[in-house]
Formats: sequence, C-alpha cells, structure tokens
Amino acid sequence: MKKLQSVMCCFCGESLAHKDSVEITISMSNSEESQGLFSHGKCLKKVLHKEVPIGIDVDNENETN
Ligand SMILES: [Zn+2]
Repeated sequence: MKKLQSVMCCFCGESLAHKDSVEITISMSNSEESQGLFSHGKCLKKVLHKEVPIGIDVDNENETN
C-alpha cells in the first residue's frame, strides 16, 4: 500500500499532497546553506510579482475551489 505523503504549503499553511506541490529551494548567495519549501502552485503565483516569469507550469492542479 502506497502512503500518500503530504507537505505544508509555505504560503497558506494548508497541507497538500507532495505530488501536487511545488518545491521551492531557497539558498543564501554567500553561503552553502539551503532549504526546501513546498507550496501550492497557485499560492506561489499569487505572491510572485506579475512581471516575474515562471518558465514551468506550476499551476496545473485540478482543484475546484
Ligand atoms: Zn497554499
């Protein structure tokens, strides 16, 4: 039986399935430290400035809300 892994959206705080999440890696330019965060595609799009280009399809969820 496959266990569905869930993660927390870093913008709205709701949990979502890992397979539906966008992974955001943040890192410091001047250090080796980095951290992975997860979010809904639509939450990411909401917070990014409209002029920031997104080269990947992050909002392909089939949610109805
Ligand atoms: Zn979210």
